[in-house]
Amino acid sequence: MRAKAGYTGIGPGIGRKWLVVCWNWSYIWTNSRNGECNMQMPDPNQAIIARKAHLVARLKQVLPEGAVIHSDNEVRAYECDALTAYKCPPLAAVLPATTAQVAAVLRICHEEAVPVVPRGSGTSLAGGALPTADAVILGVARLTEVIETDYDNRFIRVQTGRTNLSVTGAVEQDGFFYAPDPSSQLACAIAGNIAMNSGGAHCLKYGVTTNNLLGVTMVTMEGEIVEIGGAHMDSGGYDLLGLICGSEGQLGVVTEATLRIIAKPEGARPILLAFDANEVAGSCVSDIIRAGLLPVAIEFMDRPCIAACERFAKAGYPDCEALLIVEVEGSDAEIDDQLAKIKAIAATHDPVEMRESKSEAESAAIWAGRKAAFGAMGQINDYMCLDGTIPVSELPFVLRRIRELSAEFGLDVANVFHAGDGNMHPLILFDANKPGDLHTCEALGAEILKLCVEVGGCLTGEHGVGIEKRDLMHVQFDAADLEMQVRVKDVFDPGWLLNPAKVFPLDVTEARRAARDVPQRRTQDAAIA
Ligand SMILES: Cc1cc2nc3c(=O)[nH]c(=O)nc-3n(C[C@H](O)[C@H](O)[C@H](O)COP(=O)(O)OP(=O)(O)OC[C@H]3O[C@@H](n4cnc5c(N)ncnc54)[C@H](O)[C@@H]3O)c2cc1C
Repeated sequence: MRAKAGYTGIGPGIGRKWLVVCWNWSYIWTNSRNGECNMQMPDPNQAIIARKAHLVARLKQVLPEGAVIHSDNEVRAYECDALTAYKCPPLAAVLPATTAQVAAVLRICHEEAVPVVPRGSGTSLAGGALPTADAVILGVARLTEVIETDYDNRFIRVQTGRTNLSVTGAVEQDGFFYAPDPSSQLACAIAGNIAMNSGGAHCLKYGVTTNNLLGVTMVTMEGEIVEIGGAHMDSGGYDLLGLICGSEGQLGVVTEATLRIIAKPEGARPILLAFDANEVAGSCVSDIIRAGLLPVAIEFMDRPCIAACERFAKAGYPDCEALLIVEVEGSDAEIDDQLAKIKAIAATHDPVEMRESKSEAESAAIWAGRKAAFGAMGQINDYMCLDGTIPVSELPFVLRRIRELSAEFGLDVANVFHAGDGNMHPLILFDANKPGDLHTCEALGAEILKLCVEVGGCLTGEHGVGIEKRDLMHVQFDAADLEMQVRVKDVFDPGWLLNPAKVFPLDVTEARRAARDVPQRRTQDAAIA
């Protein structure tokens, strides 16, 4: 089971929406194609916006030439992340190149009471890196160095702007790899992976980011540099590392990370298992897990997804209702043994086809289809990508209920997900040009995520809560639970300046954000005058 919503874990995606930025920089979040207002963000603080020139001048004093981006045209590069439905240019963006520079920036923003939105590569599907008009984007894209590699103790220490794939790139020539493998791994940064506790297809065996993170260097909003965890197995005291991983840029800015690296297995081989019903494939997954087998990945795709991927990647997938890609690894003998057991389990579910990869090329083709799934679906439909988790044993029931809900709401749902650990990604297909379709889509999405919670799962799997699941947090947590979590933020960021409009419903955080604005702004206005 993947991580949970809130500071104990992570989350998904509720919607594709469009944004209109109004003339006066306060903005209305709308579906621009039908004018319906879909989402609320706090009004930007006009007093901060009025002090932009002063702030930019201060930031330029502590950063190198070119590291402060503030012209209206240039800040547009930071107006959204991969949830492109929501956009808002930030006040400014800064690109520090050292931890000391990050600390200097945060100290200034703290003194000026300016909100800060940390940013890695901007691939969040949850709007986690979305700015507001009164916020500074703090990007870590220039922090890309490998600081230390230690094969004896199996760790690598990197700056967090480094991309996920290039961490493996730094050690693969010596037979090692970094296990968490989000499909976005070519682009996404370790910073964002830590903030969202990201996972990927191969995390069933090796765990998600939190299971592969040993330590971080983090800068608090006040500009204090702290070390949490280290190259060792565990630390004394509270498990602050567990708290930081998945905290969505709300507790501090992570600038360096010590990551576990793993020796590459001797070999790996996927098998395709094709079935004539989603529920049957779901039962097969449940049986594989119950048998105590631990494949490195079990991925699920249903007919709409298979068809889209086939058109896009020409993977040669069989004609079937549901497909599993199960990959095992080890020596040839170990692989043969595990695959024999998996085939025996699958046989009890009357598969349409069982196709074991016979070569590197076949293995690559099998994965090419799955890895292209989101892009392939996007080519043929508007869709909303959900990201809930459920207990694996509930897969057959949940898949059946999703089909029923889909019929009830009149919108098709395509399924592609990490089935082995119950991390679902239902894709709700809708027509953005059809008035009302988006709202129906959002309502269906909310029902599906509530279903995940009802069966013992959670709202979020690996994409983060961000803005998109923020308002559904009430479904997962009661008032006392939420209060406990926001008190954690109070400790790390008492001024509520770091990514303040994310993760928690706005009604829960309103008083804290208001308390931040009034007294501090008065102080600054007085200082400037
Ligand atoms: C095509 C596609 C496929 C994807 N597939 C997967 C997948 O398989 N698995 C998965 O888990 N995700 C997936 N994602 C989502 C996304 O790639 C991950 O959430 C990723 O970890 C985000 O990394 P980033 O560097 O782009 O972060 P950003 O988008 O820049 O930021 C994400 C969050 O991290 C915070 N943050 C950024 N830098 C820091 C920092 N230095 N300190 C503190 N907080 C910080 C931000 O404030 C924000 O809340 C996918 C996205 C796309 C577009």
